[in-house]
Amino acid sequence: MDNIGYPWLQAYWDKLSRYQQQDRLPSALMLVGDKALGLSAFATAFSQRTICLSVTTSGMACGVCESCLLFNAGNYPDFFHIEPEEGKKSIKIDVIRELIESLALSNQYAKPRMVIIDPADAMLHQASNSLLKTLEEPSDNTCLVLIAEKASKISATIRSRCQLITVKDIDLSKAKLWLEAEGCNQAEQYLNLSNHLPLLAYDLWKKEALAVRVGIFRDFMAMLNGQLDPLLFAEKCIGLKNLPALKWIMSWLTDAVKVESNVKNLHLINPDLKDDLKVLVEKLHLKNIHDLLDKLAQLINLESSQLNQQLLLEDFAIECYSLTIKRKV
Ligand SMILES: [Zn+2]
Repeated sequence: MDNIGYPWLQAYWDKLSRYQQQDRLPSALMLVGDKALGLSAFATAFSQRTICLSVTTSGMACGVCESCLLFNAGNYPDFFHIEPEEGKKSIKIDVIRELIESLALSNQYAKPRMVIIDPADAMLHQASNSLLKTLEEPSDNTCLVLIAEKASKISATIRSRCQLITVKDIDLSKAKLWLEAEGCNQAEQYLNLSNHLPLLAYDLWKKEALAVRVGIFRDFMAMLNGQLDPLLFAEKCIGLKNLPALKWIMSWLTDAVKVESNVKNLHLINPDLKDDLKVLVEKLHLKNIHDLLDKLAQLINLESSQLNQQLLLEDFAIECYSLTIKRKV
C-alpha cells in the first residue's frame, strides 16, 4: 500500500483532491465498488490528505506534520472510521448515535472533519435512519464517506443525499506493476482470473490459484474420461476451501460452449485451455452443457446456504460423469 491507498485508483484520487483544492468537498460521498478494489484504504488515505497541514507537491499527506502524526497514531480527533465490531457484520445504532453526538460538537482543527462508514450497507435500518438526519442537515466542515459494494444495497433516501462515485475504471497497468512489485510474475493472468480486482488477484496469487485451477481442470477431465471417481473429484473441490472451484467449472463450460459455436475472435475466459475444451465438448453434449451451467448457477447461489456443500457437489459430479456414460451407449 502506498500513500494514496493503491496506485490503480489514482484517477479517483485526483478527482477528490481537486474538490478539496477548490474547497468544494461534498458533505457526503458514496464510493461504490468491490472491496477488492481497496476502497477502504483509499478513503483512509484521502482522509489523511484532507487533514494534513502540509500536503506534498504531488498531492499526498506529508506524514510528518502534527495532524499526520496524530492520524497515524489513531488519535486524530476529527477523524471517525465506523466499521462493524470485530467478528460482527452490522453497524449498530449506538455507534451511529455516538457519532452524531460527536458531530454536533465543533471541529477541533480547522481542516474538514472526515467520517468513513465502511461498509455503509452494514448499517441496520435504525442506524441508517438516524444517519439520514445527519445527511439532511450536514455538520459544518465535515465530509462523510460511505463505502458500498453496490449502490442498490443502500436505501434510496441515503443515496440521494450523497454524491455517488462508482469506481470501475481502474488503471490496470498500475495494478499489474503493483502486483509485480509485490513479487507476482503472472500479474496479468491473476488480474484476469480475478475479474480485474487487484486485491483479489493478490489473494489468489498467494494461494497459487492458477496452478491449483489447472490441477482441478485435469481432475475434471480425468473424471469425464472415467479415470477419476466423481466422489473423489467432489472431495478435491471441497478441499479447495476459499478458492472458487464452482466458478472455475462454470468458466470452462461457458468457454466450451463458445469453442463449439465456432465463431471467430472468441473471448475465452481460459484461453490457455482451448484445446482441452474441445475434448470437453466431445465428452458432454452441447445441450447437456447448457443444463449443467444452469445447475452450477443454482449451486453457486446455494454456496452460502446451510445445505451440505459436499453432497451437492457430489450430485453434480455424478451427473457430469453419467452424461459421459450415456453418450457411449
Ligand atoms: Zn501531514
